[in-house]
Amino acid sequence: MSFSSFGLSPALLKAIAGQNYTQPYPVQKEVIPVVLQRKDLLGIAPTGSGKTAGYVLPVLNNLQGQAEARNRHARVLVLVPTRELAVQVRDVFIQFGAELPERVKTIAVYGGVSINPQMIGLQGVRVLVATPGRLLELVESNAVHLSEIDTLVLDEADKMLNLGFREEMNRILALLPVRRQNLLFSATLSDQLAAINQLVLHNPVVVKIEPEKENIELIEQTGYFVSPEQKGPLLRYLIKTRDLKQVLVFTSSTYQADNVADKLCKNGIDAVSVHSKKSQGARTGALREFKAGTLRVLVTTDLLARGIDIEFLPHVINYELPRSPKDYIHRIGRTGRAENPGEAITLVTPEDQHHFRVIQKKMGRWVTMIDSAGIDTKGF
Ligand code: AMP
Repeated sequence: MSFSSFGLSPALLKAIAGQNYTQPYPVQKEVIPVVLQRKDLLGIAPTGSGKTAGYVLPVLNNLQGQAEARNRHARVLVLVPTRELAVQVRDVFIQFGAELPERVKTIAVYGGVSINPQMIGLQGVRVLVATPGRLLELVESNAVHLSEIDTLVLDEADKMLNLGFREEMNRILALLPVRRQNLLFSATLSDQLAAINQLVLHNPVVVKIEPEKENIELIEQTGYFVSPEQKGPLLRYLIKTRDLKQVLVFTSSTYQADNVADKLCKNGIDAVSVHSKKSQGARTGALREFKAGTLRVLVTTDLLARGIDIEFLPHVINYELPRSPKDYIHRIGRTGRAENPGEAITLVTPEDQHHFRVIQKKMGRWVTMIDSAGIDTKGF
């Protein structure tokens, strides 16, 4: 199957070719036709499955030829949980919209940065990608109006609920016209989410994409038994002796993320931590450098990492285990994306051993374990 079989406009097909997308991903095969028919959709799809292009392409197609809305009246609203995802989604709209005969002005608004440029930017907006809190602020100050929205996308809805955006989401929903198309994407289903689905979706088509098992198969997973005090030296030993060039390290707290990044830097390994307590500028800058390959190690926590799209990531190191097996799979799944095999290393202290067995059982795969007692980490 090729992209041309969906009936997307030639300008969109040209932009798709420009992105070197040769074939639609499974989620795109199912989502694109439903969105083009303007039906409501519930998409259960993990991060990394290609869902963004799955909705961006048909939404752009649907927008074409439509009468322009009044100034500061967006037509499409995409709600997202984090600033990082807001920027990513906006960029996908811009990339695919680049060849369209009519310009589709797309802007991303999110908190943690000055509101004024966003107020000015909303002039002439058609597609608005927003985190809930900042969107409400902008609506309250009349910088944008939601009364002409005809397509609503809730992206990573489960995460929005986990982050406590329920009330803001309800307030936003109350501002939208009743007749509209609704697309809801989530990596998981929960009772809380079912309540949102009922509120938002009308006879939705349900598309469920399982996290790719083969992806997990592609990833080479290794665990190291290690004492808590040897974790730091072992981490540096692995990065240095194996000459790892682009490593995403996970910790369980922002405090540890800073701590690990600090120690790496002190030992001559270029590392930066990114987490919710860092400024927006620092986060974007570090991510950009990491993606470009000029920053060797990025240390982060689960909350921020979900939704960050980094292609071709060769190494993930779990400095600390995540609480849930799902998060473990999310973390290491980054290395097996886009058919690129990668490696995931997990440091396992005696206290973690039981939990790591639970994770492996849930994943349905046993990880090769190495005892680090035999490794000489002196000097690292
Ligand atoms: P997403 O799940 O939307 O964050 O997408 C994950 C990654 O897959 C992104 O880097 C996309 O650019 C890439 N991608 C999405 N669809 C395709 C496709 N059909 N062909 C190649 N790459 C794709």
